[in-house]
Amino acid sequence: MATAAASGPGSARARFIVVGGGIAGVTCTEQLAGEFPSEKILLITASPLIKAVMNFKQVSRMLEEFEVEERPTRILEEHYPNVKVIQSAVRGLDAAQRKLYTEEGKEYIYEKLCICAGGRPRLIVKDNPYVLGIRDTDSAKEFQSRLARAKRIIVIGNGGIALELVYEIEGCEVIWAIKDKAIGNTFFDAGAAQFLIPQLKADKPEAIHPCKRTKYTTEGLETETAAEDGAHGSALGPDWHEGMKLKGTKEISHRVHVEYQCEIDKIYLHEEFASSQKTSLAFPENLSEEREGKIDEECWPIYVQLTNGKIYGSDFIVSATGVIPNVEPFITNNHFDVAEDGGLKVDEQMRTSVPDIFAAGDVCTVSWESRALWQQMRLWTQARQMGYYAAKCIAAELLDESIELDFSFEAFAHVTKFFNYKVVLLGKYNSQGLGTDHELLLRCTKGQEYVKTVMQDGRMMGAVLIGETDLEGTFENLILNQMDLSAYGEDLLDPDIDIEDYFD
Ligand code: FAD
Repeated sequence: MATAAASGPGSARARFIVVGGGIAGVTCTEQLAGEFPSEKILLITASPLIKAVMNFKQVSRMLEEFEVEERPTRILEEHYPNVKVIQSAVRGLDAAQRKLYTEEGKEYIYEKLCICAGGRPRLIVKDNPYVLGIRDTDSAKEFQSRLARAKRIIVIGNGGIALELVYEIEGCEVIWAIKDKAIGNTFFDAGAAQFLIPQLKADKPEAIHPCKRTKYTTEGLETETAAEDGAHGSALGPDWHEGMKLKGTKEISHRVHVEYQCEIDKIYLHEEFASSQKTSLAFPENLSEEREGKIDEECWPIYVQLTNGKIYGSDFIVSATGVIPNVEPFITNNHFDVAEDGGLKVDEQMRTSVPDIFAAGDVCTVSWESRALWQQMRLWTQARQMGYYAAKCIAAELLDESIELDFSFEAFAHVTKFFNYKVVLLGKYNSQGLGTDHELLLRCTKGQEYVKTVMQDGRMMGAVLIGETDLEGTFENLILNQMDLSAYGEDLLDPDIDIEDYFD
């Protein structure tokens, strides 16, 4: 079959083109390269470095661990001689002609295309120099250098990035504004939040924290040119802040104040605030109510008025309110089904609504019939699983074979670290979509562990495990097997019963 052959000046043709050098795109490319060793695969990516999954380990049936390296593109080409990486941003697509246009003015014609262009931070306001989003290596470095000069910052958002940041930042006051009743709403319930919150008030341990589930390294960073447009870099991932000093100017450990159930009402730059005659609040010390409501004497470059009426000044704001899928160059002039969250809708075979175009990772939104125990979350592990599965689907379509949804989409599983605790999330860990006829079983030892299971009709549908519980293997099996556990009732979480022995 034809390989990448020039079809005119400034244009090239390839059977497979993948867009995006993040974990989804690279995994898809590697998988295609292995399945079709005699075909040329083009990986077009805006980022100068690509992400590689290293030392992949299936730690249990559902949980996986791997390391991630950011590498120069030539390493992928050396490893897979049938892969060619083109460093350029795609600026347009003509799906009818199967043509991609890059910023360099080149055209690429494909037979099958997989879009893995990731996403970019959803900023609360655009074009404000005091509002930062964190997505890629460049934006993380920018954040670090701004923090090094900061006395106070405001973090907006309640997802994984916000949770990591507020705990990791030292030497700087942090006002954390969340729209929910409890911290970490995306990952756990109010009970788990209660369990974790004392960590925000305690001094951080001096010891080096154990690494999260995967190691994040960069290679060749100094030698490569950084992407000019930050929006085009690959998303950071697990342990992105490891080895990065996240410290402000103050001689304090971490100091976080949470403002619950509020959003940003208005942002003022310094001059605007000065002329508004308004006053801002001093940092409320976590352990005493004394300073609550006290007027701030300091001048700040930016001020935030929250919907609860409080105003705080800060050096800058971090907007950690999720991602917007990078779909624009692809959807303009083409008829893609786009989901409410802005992602390209994909079916069970990772196909978008446009023929011969697949999508994977943060850029896509699954629109297949919901699975009882799985939900999409824009996570590193899912980007890898989708990239892998998309390549399998492309191969199956070409070979006219049928393919069943990969096992990794049967049940949700994620292991991470929040506030220095191991956190394992399984299945419908937050009762997602279960309605009201479910119950929760809880076990909590303050400062040590928090265990929650979500039960429906006597079956375990999900679980949250915080701390070194050693229960993940057993609970995973119980969730996957859907064994009727009604007979055990609350004994299921009795710490005096060795549940592992019981069920294994
Ligand atoms: P990306 O990694 O965003 O890659 C997209 C690629 O597409 C990039 O190479 C980009 O250059 C390229 N691209 C974009 N537009 C174009 C274009 N027009 N033309 C050509 N190329 C283009 N997940 C976890 O599981 N655990 C965590 O602890 C975790 N922490 C995170 C911390 C931070 C700060 C961030 C930002 C994310 C974190 N995530 C975490 C999420 C995780 O990083 C993402 O879900 C995952 O990296 C998405 O991979 P992707 O390949 O879909 O997209």
